[in-house]
Amino acid sequence: MNNTKNVLNYFIGKGSISKLQSLINEKRVNTSDYAVIFVDHFFRNQGDLNLKIDRQDMIFYYNSQKEPTTDIINHYKSEILSSKQDNKPVAVIAIGGGSTLDTVKAVSNLLNNPGVAEDYQGWDLVKNPGIYKIGVPTISGTGAEASRTCVMTNYKKNLKLGMNSEFTIYDQLILDSDLSKTVPRDQYFYTAMDTYIHCIESLNGSHRHAMADSYSYEALRLCHEIFSSKDMMSDENREKLMVASYHGGASLANSFVGVVHPFSAGLSIVFGTPHCLANCIIMSAMEEFYPVETEQFKFYVEKQGISIPSGLTQKLDDAGFQKLYESTIIHEKPLTNALGENFKTILSPEKVRSIFERL
Ligand code: NAD
Ligand code: ZN
Repeated sequence: MNNTKNVLNYFIGKGSISKLQSLINEKRVNTSDYAVIFVDHFFRNQGDLNLKIDRQDMIFYYNSQKEPTTDIINHYKSEILSSKQDNKPVAVIAIGGGSTLDTVKAVSNLLNNPGVAEDYQGWDLVKNPGIYKIGVPTISGTGAEASRTCVMTNYKKNLKLGMNSEFTIYDQLILDSDLSKTVPRDQYFYTAMDTYIHCIESLNGSHRHAMADSYSYEALRLCHEIFSSKDMMSDENREKLMVASYHGGASLANSFVGVVHPFSAGLSIVFGTPHCLANCIIMSAMEEFYPVETEQFKFYVEKQGISIPSGLTQKLDDAGFQKLYESTIIHEKPLTNALGENFKTILSPEKVRSIFERL
């Protein structure tokens, strides 16, 4: 049984990013106290954020074309500590999507714990609370702003796993839907569908939890309103999606994903497909496991005029399909949640291949 923790504080509303400066300043005691701010690279040349950075603060523009790796996290830890003579920051801030939000969670934990990011990939391995951290999402759907993990790829071990820990949860969020205005339409849809998929997987699993169910139902209700409407990116819908994303992330604190995420992870490992796009590609071939939800997903795709890439595995050889199988079947927890202990009998190598061949 989990002793569940949620995010402690949040501001919500258009323009609430204006609260950021005072939140950071509250943490400054000495004149040398500094903050580290990670901003998605999209905003490098965008004046919209109007950030007022103090002279001693550090700012990193995170290139989210690459999802976080343990090497990147280790690099940030050394760069911060070496440039400040081992003096730690008083706050770490993320302004961006799931990649930037996860980076800050990991950096915050690592700055207050010895060793490297790889040491903490798993469940409840982080010993000390991280540095105070603020999350400011600029795209909605992954629920990274609410969840207790931060996904990182460890290429040495071919492992994509987060620091699952209570200490990974944000201390403070700023949910300002003005910030997601500039997201390209297709990307907006792919990331949003991560919430939809987290929730349908959780509700169809055996690892049910009353609180998780409640968060999931509400997130799905909001998704339905947003994606059946004419303009999924209206001001009102972007705000609703921010709320749905938070609910989706909170639901995952008490439940597991199902069949879609393991298949999606296979695509990410073999083709490097980004998480949310990979989910959407897989979702097109999930009728057998989630018939009603797959139909619903296809309706949203059509209604919003979104293009989902196809033909990905057309030229793949046997060794490629074997790697896809291995990187899918390795996800025992979600597959057991969805299909039971004997999931390997249902998902034989031939079966897995036939699903990938249809994409
Ligand atoms: P992202 O951070 O990977 O960014 C996707 C793209 O959107 C980038 O090109 C970025 O520049 C762009 N973008 C972001 N905000 C923008 C804006 N306001 N205007 C224009 N462009 C903008 O996006 P994501 O899909 O939110 O995150 C994916 C990551 O989240 C993956 O690394 C995945 O592993 C992780 N994830 C984490 C959790 C968790 O619980 N921690 C859950 C699911 C996924
Ligand atoms: Zn996901």
